[in-house]
Amino acid sequence: MQQGQTVLVLRRLLAQIRDVMAAEGSAQTRLARIVSIIATDLAAEVCSVYVRRAGDVLELFATQGLRATAVRRTRLRIGEGLIGEVAASGRPLALADAQSHPNFAYRPETGEEIYQSLMGVPILRSGRSVGVLAVQNVRRRQYADEEIEALQTVAMVLAELVIGGKLVDRYELAVTEGIALLPLRLEGVRLNAGLALGVAVQHRPRFTVRKLVAEDTSEEHDRLRRAVAEMHGALDDMLRASDFAAGSEHRDVLETYRMIAEDVGWLRRIGEAIDTGLTAEAAVQKVNDDIHARMSQVSDPYLRERVHDLEDLADRLLQHLIGVDDKALEFPRTNDVILVARNLGPAQLLDYARGRLRGVILEEGSPNAHVVIVARALDIPFVGQVRDALNRIDSGEEVILDADHAQVFVRPGDDITKPFLRNLEARRARKAAYAASKDLPAVTLDDVRISININAGLLVELNHMAESGADGIGLYRTEVPFMVRSELPNVESQRQLYRKVLDYAAGKPVVFRTLDIGGDKVQAHWNQGNEANPAMGWRAIRVSFDRPALLRQQLRALIRAAAGQELSVMFPMIAEVEELDFARRLLDMELDREKRHGGLLPSSVRVGAMLEVPALLFQLQALLSRVDFVSVGTNDLIQFLFASDRANYRVSERYDVLTPMVLSLLKNVVQQGQAANVPVNLCGEMASQPLDAMALVGIGFRNISVSPPAVGPIKEIVRSLRVSSLEKFTDSLCTSSQRSVRENLKAYAKDHGIAI
Ligand code: PEP
Ligand code: MG
Repeated sequence: MQQGQTVLVLRRLLAQIRDVMAAEGSAQTRLARIVSIIATDLAAEVCSVYVRRAGDVLELFATQGLRATAVRRTRLRIGEGLIGEVAASGRPLALADAQSHPNFAYRPETGEEIYQSLMGVPILRSGRSVGVLAVQNVRRRQYADEEIEALQTVAMVLAELVIGGKLVDRYELAVTEGIALLPLRLEGVRLNAGLALGVAVQHRPRFTVRKLVAEDTSEEHDRLRRAVAEMHGALDDMLRASDFAAGSEHRDVLETYRMIAEDVGWLRRIGEAIDTGLTAEAAVQKVNDDIHARMSQVSDPYLRERVHDLEDLADRLLQHLIGVDDKALEFPRTNDVILVARNLGPAQLLDYARGRLRGVILEEGSPNAHVVIVARALDIPFVGQVRDALNRIDSGEEVILDADHAQVFVRPGDDITKPFLRNLEARRARKAAYAASKDLPAVTLDDVRISININAGLLVELNHMAESGADGIGLYRTEVPFMVRSELPNVESQRQLYRKVLDYAAGKPVVFRTLDIGGDKVQAHWNQGNEANPAMGWRAIRVSFDRPALLRQQLRALIRAAAGQELSVMFPMIAEVEELDFARRLLDMELDREKRHGGLLPSSVRVGAMLEVPALLFQLQALLSRVDFVSVGTNDLIQFLFASDRANYRVSERYDVLTPMVLSLLKNVVQQGQAANVPVNLCGEMASQPLDAMALVGIGFRNISVSPPAVGPIKEIVRSLRVSSLEKFTDSLCTSSQRSVRENLKAYAKDHGIAI
């Protein structure tokens, strides 16, 4: 067939299929009609549809040309025979001499031995084969590329019929490994600990392509042109508004994205798909499915990213073509929801979080992603890096999310669900017990008071302070509110925010840490250039040194927010005491300025430094003589001590922090603080871990700051231990020659009835 002729045939074919789809009758009858139409229009003696069923089996559902008795009898495994191969690879196959192909599998009940040529295409849904559409010819013949494309287009329309749930139950079409309905266990990376049980909801673009076959092709071309122009305009606006300097990494990314949107190859293919009789939105979807299927085998990360770009662009284009369907954001009415997505932004999570969101599973995601920071604030269990999650967990499926162990159970059996529910129940009971004891003091059995504070960065986290009975905010990360905004807040909006924090704290102490931006904490509005080692790069106090105005504005806002009350300011990433001197000078300048302007000053100002760069360990005396308090940031300190990137999940948990080296080092810091009469606190994640917290109390820490959900458990530990005995024990560990003393600490807790 000539190309023009193929297009005409295809259009006629699609129009007929549309009529059959719209007509009365069961899905099975309609499928039978459709295969007969396809066989006639494509001049093939055989046309068959195989549908994927439970157990990864392809079953012959309809045929024109093969024996009718084979329908619902002939079955092939995925990968078996030529049909199985099409399904397994997700790619078309066209063979003039099918029978001599090594993978040909003969099925006597079909009577197919007389057909020499075969052309099969996958029926795809989200890039995954849910069936195969095939035609066969008696005569040996070559199928042209246009014919393969035509059959693919028909297969796309058929996908609607297959996944509609009328031919086989929807659950059979869900992705399974091995036998359908068997439980599936997926692994990922823990991004926020916790357990959750619920029903999966896929986070998908908020629109669905409903109309597939066009009434008027030229109108569809016009619609596409208009939508592309709108999309380009919107992207240009985004570029203009982004404010990124030319040549910067962010700008490059956006410009590349914009260039892809102009990609003539991509747009031409969409246009060609419209020529075959599809609507503009169906054409976009088809080209997207093709790319997805083709690229799913590619392992090159650069190319995969480009595919993501194209998919994102396809989503955007669809948005302009069909608009946004807000209903798609609604959760099913009755269930607890586990959200499954490729990736999410912090604002999108907040959109969902108001309802019954119990957990999140991402195909991507890293520990410091903004969405993860927000999820931690909301105490939502979170697992990332779950390969192919969207293809393996379908909406509506029951899911157990065990974020503690970075695993997901899909369709769990009773053997998993029952113990899990017991565990969840025990946790709930423990939580209730923590809430009941929130007003009890964190005092050890031998009357040593431990101050337990919370780390916070979002206003939502501050509620936890009252709920948990924490002593204050030991670390308020001021960069976090900056990270979820699209622009740098001015002095007045910062003042209002800090004022709110102080109001929430209602007189309890709050330690504001000045901006720790840069490094891994990148903001949309922050142009930091491309750094090879961002954690050790231009971040925190280093930025303030080079751009003092930023820190001065922040200090001004803090001074004003704390007018008439105590202000505690802490500077991050101090590597040399001179950096602290510099920061202090800026603070004094701002205090002077405020005084000159007649503003009300804070009643007192306390200045502290984070101890998180190893170099500062060797300047401790000089540091202690300059500050009112020190807070050890073990997250950074440990990553620099072990040269082990805290954001890289391959190494972030490689080294045990409970080593004699770390414990004796920290003990020494506390002792130097005691000698200088300067409190040494600790606000790294280590303090939130029960066993670690016990060890920290043993080596002398009396003030720690933990993630909000950890307050209850840590307080219970404190109330069940005796410092005098624990101290002796941890002393002995400090000189041990073991690599890790974790097991020793566990045994101690068990022997002494400490609630770990
Ligand atoms: C730390 O480094 O331990 C710390 C508390 O700071 P952040 O996690 O914000 O870098
Ligand atoms: Mg830090």
